[in-house]
Amino acid sequence: MARNMYPGVCYACGKWVPTGFGHFERYRGHWRIKCVKCASGRDVSMTDREVRIAVNRRNGRDLKC
Ligand SMILES: [Zn+2]
Repeated sequence: MARNMYPGVCYACGKWVPTGFGHFERYRGHWRIKCVKCASGRDVSMTDREVRIAVNRRNGRDLKC
């Protein structure tokens, strides 16, 4: 599942989800966000590679890896 490029509120727990800290899914014609904690029970930190990739993608830069 791809990480969220835009921040929003987790539909499962109602917490704020910064860019890269959750997943997004198509739901009834719009996008909704589920935080990684609710999706997989994992804690995410700002330094996670997947967070940096999502942030860079939002900023228009793809990481070369
Ligand atoms: Zn959540």
